[in-house]
Amino acid sequence: MKQYPFLDLALANAPYMDELKTAACDVIEGGRYLRGEQTQLLEQEIAELCQVKHSIGVSNGLDALKLILRAYKELGRLRDGDEVIVPANTYVATVLAVSDNGLVPVLCEPREDTLNMDSSLIEGLITDRTRAIMPVHLYGTPCWDAGLMQVARDHDLLIIEDNAQAIGAASDVAGLHGTFVTGGLGDAAGNSFYPTKNLGALGDVGAVTTSDDALADAVRALANYGSDRRYHNIYLGYNCRVDEIQAAMLRVKLRYLERENDERAAIARVYDECISNPRVKTPVIFEGMRQIWHQYVVRVEGRDDFRAYLNANGVGSDIHYATPPHRQPCYKDLAHLSFPITERLADEVVSLPIAPPLTTDDARAIADIINRF
Ligand SMILES: *Cc1c(COP(=O)(O)O)cnc(C)c1O
Repeated sequence: MKQYPFLDLALANAPYMDELKTAACDVIEGGRYLRGEQTQLLEQEIAELCQVKHSIGVSNGLDALKLILRAYKELGRLRDGDEVIVPANTYVATVLAVSDNGLVPVLCEPREDTLNMDSSLIEGLITDRTRAIMPVHLYGTPCWDAGLMQVARDHDLLIIEDNAQAIGAASDVAGLHGTFVTGGLGDAAGNSFYPTKNLGALGDVGAVTTSDDALADAVRALANYGSDRRYHNIYLGYNCRVDEIQAAMLRVKLRYLERENDERAAIARVYDECISNPRVKTPVIFEGMRQIWHQYVVRVEGRDDFRAYLNANGVGSDIHYATPPHRQPCYKDLAHLSFPITERLADEVVSLPIAPPLTTDDARAIADIINRF
């Protein structure tokens, strides 16, 4: 029986092995392991991709989000106890970045079609302490619309994108600076290049993207001990730097991002056309916006039976995510809240294989298996 693993990173990176090895050897032999040419070039390339003025390479996606919030505090835009509106339906890291900075996360239910934060609900969550909104482009579907921008404008709120799952995606509505690419839609964005993300390093890397000069300077200093120039520390900073080797790995992978995103989109279309089991609800493909399909997530009542059936037929699957942030033990202070849509999603979502080297033929075969469930 043919096996369809959910994700095999060694197989996913296999096509680039020669280039990755050469790039790693060049760094090893070059003798510059941090703050070198590879990081600088990566930052230029990420800034270009996200159509922003600045990109600062950092240690990982969570640190990228944390650094943005901390930098806004240093710049006087945020204060301890300020409220930040975040989606209830997200990976916990989004919320952790807010809590870590002494800010208060205010959770917002998703829409049933995009599974992203419902911008029409934001107005009702605003208090005199609300200072920012943090939309997450979950699974690679842009979370951006005119309503989001309007409420931000009306209440003078910062918009900080969590672009960890959507590098290369594009919205159908222009962002604050007239561009459409995620990571450049709002005031600033945190990006992740964790190995399983669409643009994945061979370890941890992240990036902050922004067109705000002051924010970029503050983030860059904070990520390097709070130092604006050598042995001169203006902030109580951190060490959140990027390894040159990982920057080099990413620059290899970046050359193939567009192609890989196209391949994922082709697989999503096959699933969409071929899965016809009424028990399996497929995600919406939005014409006009560019979804990059970090995950292809179906909804199934009786998920455990479905996953056991898939497994018995050689099809790997995963769950993103089984427990929403407000149900995590670390968020006991949010446990009394109720988010029915988020909670139902957590019970029903199943991620199907979509990452390379999966082919459209594989997707057709998987759809056939699903239709016999
Ligand atoms: C992966 C992810 C993060 C964190 O990125 P890391 O690089 O793993 O720290 C943050 N938010 C979302 C939505 C993510 O998927």
